[in-house]
Amino acid sequence: MTMRRAVFLDRDGTLNEDTGYPADFRQVHIYPAAFEAVRLLKRAGFAAVVVTHQAGLGRGYFGAAELDELHRRFAEEFRRRGAGLDGIYSCPHAGEAAEPECACAKPLPGLGFQAARELGLDLGASFMVGDKPVDVRFGLAIGAVPVLVLTGYGRAAAAALEASGVRPAHTAAGILEAASWILAKGRPSGHGPV
Ligand SMILES: [Mg+2]
Ligand SMILES: [Zn+2]
Repeated sequence: MTMRRAVFLDRDGTLNEDTGYPADFRQVHIYPAAFEAVRLLKRAGFAAVVVTHQAGLGRGYFGAAELDELHRRFAEEFRRRGAGLDGIYSCPHAGEAAEPECACAKPLPGLGFQAARELGLDLGASFMVGDKPVDVRFGLAIGAVPVLVLTGYGRAAAAALEASGVRPAHTAAGILEAASWILAKGRPSGHGPV
């Protein structure tokens, strides 16, 4: 089986406004640029895989059925715009990123390895886009190229990363610029990003 390249995408602050712990799709405001970004990445042959920490479930702010329904509608919005997502992988546990209590919280690589197994992804030829230090660290942990976006918590993340010496390969104003950079970096298709 040919392994596909993927772009892993954080959800809150990257694809949609970070509004805390949305329990209902009506509270989710997807950035219009996110549809175009995913459409371009898909057209170039990348799988688009969302990896998100939904601690609100572990903390009891909403239930598994509500999160499933929210993600069903989230995926439907992208599909309707010709930008189908290949998967949405969530860590539902309550633990803080600083001391994860599970193997699936970013920056631990669990969700990335699971997606790679299930979807046949070439992690070394893949990218990770997110707005927090854990997203950059997760990208590095799975062997992908990490890209920071300045939406969401991105500006604070840039400062924190600078201080810690952990560097994203690129810092983009937002999801569409991140996609453009990936497309330029990832050409020609089929092999490593660099
Ligand atoms: Mg985020
Ligand atoms: Zn978890």
